[in-house]
Amino acid sequence: MDFLLPRYCKVCGRRLSLSESHLCISCFIGLPTVEYDPRKLNRTETLLINERNIIRASSMLQYDKESEYRKILFHLKYWGHPDVGSWMASIAADRLSKTVFFEGVDYIVPLPLTRKRLRKRGFNQCMYIAEGIKEVTGLPVIENAVIRHEERVHQAGLGLFQRWSNAQGLFQVINPEVLKGKHILLVDDVVTTGSTLCSLIEVLNDSIPDIRVSVFTLAITM
Ligand SMILES: [Zn+2]
Repeated sequence: MDFLLPRYCKVCGRRLSLSESHLCISCFIGLPTVEYDPRKLNRTETLLINERNIIRASSMLQYDKESEYRKILFHLKYWGHPDVGSWMASIAADRLSKTVFFEGVDYIVPLPLTRKRLRKRGFNQCMYIAEGIKEVTGLPVIENAVIRHEERVHQAGLGLFQRWSNAQGLFQVINPEVLKGKHILLVDDVVTTGSTLCSLIEVLNDSIPDIRVSVFTLAITM
């Protein structure tokens, strides 16, 4: 298959050998990963610190828009290789499963896309990330408990406060019974200000009083 369909590193573009998948070994070694240490408050947790019922949060990669590693996110979302998200997430989950990170988690919940976005893209990239975590942890993925409404203005290009206010009213829990009393792991691709996640966590807390929430994102903007 490799001879007929050569595969290339998603970061540097070099042709991959049979033993490599998605990234060449040198790009893999150089991945700008974020270590998870449950004894220290990390940056992802800091962004969510004002929300109730947050248990833990972690991101796998530092996202720098100057870095070639940003291409991993482009492949995931825009360039038709969402399977790279599952692969990356399974590597992250394998590392996190050696810590307390998944302790007590009942379900994985990928952040939903709006119907319009889903139709345009054809898939939800967060679902691929969720599947990679499921592969390692065996935790079930719950897809249809929350829906996302259209944003009135696109988030990009807005200031911090505008982003925050625009994020209000974005999500709706349509199946609260399923998540009642559960500890869920919310999964997103990139966290920047945390406003979208905070908005979802607030809606979850308002709809399901005894919910507990942990968060995993594939990347965090530096
Ligand atoms: Zn490479």
